[in-house]
Amino acid sequence: MRAITFHEPFDVRVSELREPVLVAPRDAIVRVTATAICGSDLHPYRGHERGLERGTVLGHEFTGVIEALGPELGGLRLGQRVASPFSTNCGDCPACRRGLPARCVHGELFGWVQDGRGLHGGQSERVRVPLADTTLVAVPDAVDDAGALLAGDVFATGSFAAELAGLGTGDRVAVIGCGPVGICAIAASRRRGASEVIAIDRDPARLDLAARFGARPLPADAAADDPSAQQLDAVLECVGQPAATRLAYRLLRHGGTLAAVGVHTEAALAITPGELYDKNLSYRAGRCPARRFLPELLARIAAGENGLAALFSHRLPLAAGPEAYRMFDERRDGCTKVMLVP
Ligand SMILES: [Zn+2]
Ligand SMILES: [Zn+2]
Repeated sequence: MRAITFHEPFDVRVSELREPVLVAPRDAIVRVTATAICGSDLHPYRGHERGLERGTVLGHEFTGVIEALGPELGGLRLGQRVASPFSTNCGDCPACRRGLPARCVHGELFGWVQDGRGLHGGQSERVRVPLADTTLVAVPDAVDDAGALLAGDVFATGSFAAELAGLGTGDRVAVIGCGPVGICAIAASRRRGASEVIAIDRDPARLDLAARFGARPLPADAAADDPSAQQLDAVLECVGQPAATRLAYRLLRHGGTLAAVGVHTEAALAITPGELYDKNLSYRAGRCPARRFLPELLARIAAGENGLAALFSHRLPLAAGPEAYRMFDERRDGCTKVMLVP
């Protein structure tokens, strides 16, 4: 089968690999019908995140049809369309029971093999899914592959940001970073009844997209001093850089909440304990428990709730994967998100 594999930074390839097989009793094999490139796939691609083994099949956003099932998978059936979160989970450990399946003690990220351990990813014709009965979710007929891909990652993460912030009716909120996760955070904020959603980004094209989803666009360099963006109830930070944390701090009211779903790599928080104290702020962060959100988001997409499929600017064959990575990395040709079709 063909798959997109990692070799070294800026070098991903189309490789011919052996088909995956069932290994454990709760494994399933999914024939991938669509897969997407995510912003976090760019971390190893750009060499910002190290350790990924040469030859690893990339990708953690995929949807498809169940082609083989282990003997202990009662809830699933062959031929079923399924969506997947970006990591597996057992459904039964303390983290899973607390609603944090992305921190499952038995969980693994798709598309991350290091030191001979880990899971190959979904940018492939087929993928092995461990713990499949508690990881995969059946896709309603009314949800297309685009919807299934978004529900498993970026729509879940945007929804999680709004949940972390505790957004409620009448709240004023800013979303910093208007890539696919930020756009989904805007949609989630509006759904939770925010009275005003301000979209902040450096990129005019991203601000235009945010405006189409009902946010008020504000260029990043103007945001800090714009009187209309002060005293906010919450800021959803979808960037993962110190400057975004600093800006969020500046925009929040006393007692506000800074919800961070951007992945940070700096050594220390960009705001001090004293600053948190002086503004009575809550700082909440973390990896999205996507599996918990999946059923509800699929149902809402099935009900025709949003037009998030517009986030996919490009649909290409799987074999175009290496070129798609280059285009996405350079944000060429208005590329916001790429779907690859095996
Ligand atoms: Zn992703
Ligand atoms: Zn678990």
